[in-house]
Amino acid sequence: MVYGIRMALAHYYSHPSSHDHDTGDHPECIERLVAIESELQRRDWLGYKRIDAPPATREALLAVHSSEHVDRIHDIGKSGGAVDPDTVMSQGSLAAALHAAGGGVALVDALLSGDARAGFVGARPPGHHADRDHAMGFCLFNNVAVAAHHALDAHLLKRVLILDWDVHHGNGTNDIFASSKEVLFISIHQSPLYPGSGPADDVGSGAGAGYTVNVPVAKGSGDEIFVSHVEHLVGSIARQYRPQLILVSAGYDAHRDDPLASCAVTEGGYAAMTTAVRRISTEIEAPVGMFLEGGYDLDALTRSVVATLECLAVEHEESMQALSKLHPSTANAAAALTPWWPRLAELPVP
Ligand SMILES: [Zn+2]
Repeated sequence: MVYGIRMALAHYYSHPSSHDHDTGDHPECIERLVAIESELQRRDWLGYKRIDAPPATREALLAVHSSEHVDRIHDIGKSGGAVDPDTVMSQGSLAAALHAAGGGVALVDALLSGDARAGFVGARPPGHHADRDHAMGFCLFNNVAVAAHHALDAHLLKRVLILDWDVHHGNGTNDIFASSKEVLFISIHQSPLYPGSGPADDVGSGAGAGYTVNVPVAKGSGDEIFVSHVEHLVGSIARQYRPQLILVSAGYDAHRDDPLASCAVTEGGYAAMTTAVRRISTEIEAPVGMFLEGGYDLDALTRSVVATLECLAVEHEESMQALSKLHPSTANAAAALTPWWPRLAELPVP
């Protein structure tokens, strides 16, 4: 054990139904979880307490989705079929989607009751592209949004931060909370890239203006940029917002080996981003829950999830040396956000 840190109580949520969501010849495939779980099994689950993800209740889903959408997923799920051109369901998909969303709800309950200080939901299908009325981009229900709304509704939280570092913009989460200041959504994503949303000037609307933070990055962006954005930009905004809970849409498709995008993050970058989040969370005393989103190179995905879990289970008891230099692109993004987050002006000039 390294001086100044200790292991936190950490939970890992999963469910066998994730292996029954059969997408066929598709990048978001069953083999993703087979690869992750066999490696974690080999490593004795890195000391995490393993918990079966329960199914989400209809009430929890209806907090973020329309009843028409929930009914449609149930209907298509009976026989399987295409939900949109990228998104398919088999007969096992409905159960998988319910447990993927319900795992997040259970994780929030554990984090807010003090049973865990950190946790990870290793389930599929992913969620961040699903909006109120639509499944899209391999996502059926918006798992992280359901969990965040549960934190507001059941635990009466007033400030939840969702950080989305999947390489694709989390359009569904963005839109679900666009007019809310109770959920601050920060997305770092490659642009241009699917789904095409998330420009820097999309800052939310109405009472939620300023509580949506979109940070597009160019193709080729790697650890220097992603870690700087998380450590310095997200760190500063989080210190100003003081969330009571931090949730992370943890996609691993910004990895340099990923076939669906063109960024250059390494597993070392994901370790540093996770460490940055954990330092912030310890400082502001907010627990952290992470959700598996994308990541389509099986080896890169597995190594990156392991790196995340190793760093997520650590509690930082004192501030330590910076993980990254402030990148000029972080300073540029920060400059545009100072109307909403004035202390971003205090970041040192790179
Ligand atoms: Zn993605």
